[in-house]
Amino acid sequence: MAGSGKPRVAFFDFASCEGCQLTVVDSLQTHLELVEAVEIVQFREAMSDKGEDYLVAFVEGSCTRKSDEERLLKIREQAAVVVALGACAHTGGINALKNLQPSLPDVRQYVYGEQWQWYDSYPARPISAVIPVDAIIPGCPIDRFEFLDVVKKVLLGKKPAIPDYPLCVECKLKENVCLFDRGGTCLGPITRAGCDAICPTYGDGCEGCRGPIPNPNENAMKDVLEMAGLTAAQLMAKMTMFNAYDPMQIEG
Ligand code: SF4
Ligand code: SF4
Ligand code: SF4
Repeated sequence: MAGSGKPRVAFFDFASCEGCQLTVVDSLQTHLELVEAVEIVQFREAMSDKGEDYLVAFVEGSCTRKSDEERLLKIREQAAVVVALGACAHTGGINALKNLQPSLPDVRQYVYGEQWQWYDSYPARPISAVIPVDAIIPGCPIDRFEFLDVVKKVLLGKKPAIPDYPLCVECKLKENVCLFDRGGTCLGPITRAGCDAICPTYGDGCEGCRGPIPNPNENAMKDVLEMAGLTAAQLMAKMTMFNAYDPMQIEG
């Protein structure tokens, strides 16, 4: 709390497309009661103030270089509550795809050209690989209603409940015909629900942006994808689109 008596909240971005912050801006525009309930002290995408006294930190983006660690540790030191905002922060997201490449220097050269050594970079990781995280808002981008719910819970001092059951549950409740019965493929059986099965509902297979459920049966998922006709390369691409981060690649 500060002089205003409201909880002070800050938003931070690391390696990301900033789409999750855009969703936040969009959500706040239609839920002014939330803007009234907190004092936003730092939010680069929406304002120029840079207050360093905050209670809750929302962190978007992956940690992709050594200097990010120092910044994350500073945020953790200051904030009583740290929330990972979106897939990049939660699972490493698409940033972690580079970890699968055989040579990180080659990746840097491809992205930054001749001056690639000017730009620091190391294997991408979720923020939980660097600091303890109190809550997550999964998805690429986040779901605005889930964001609003998590904010309310955090402000009430409660632990936000994120679904731990698979997307197929939501999909079935919507009475969708399964993609596998329509000649498609989908990661619904191993992916965390909470997006209202939006992709299958509109005819696209889930790519796993909300991360895996606890104890996913990945081998069974691979068998089903193989039976649906995916080649080994397609299967790998599907399984790793949002979930390429593997702590063993980093610590090993
Ligand atoms: S999770 Fe997706 S929308 Fe959000 S910052 Fe990362 S890439 Fe962008
Ligand atoms: S379309 Fe996907 S989410 Fe829906 S039931 Fe089939 S596998 Fe599950
Ligand atoms: S259906 Fe899958 S890919 Fe689509 S938003 Fe939901 S979790 Fe993400």
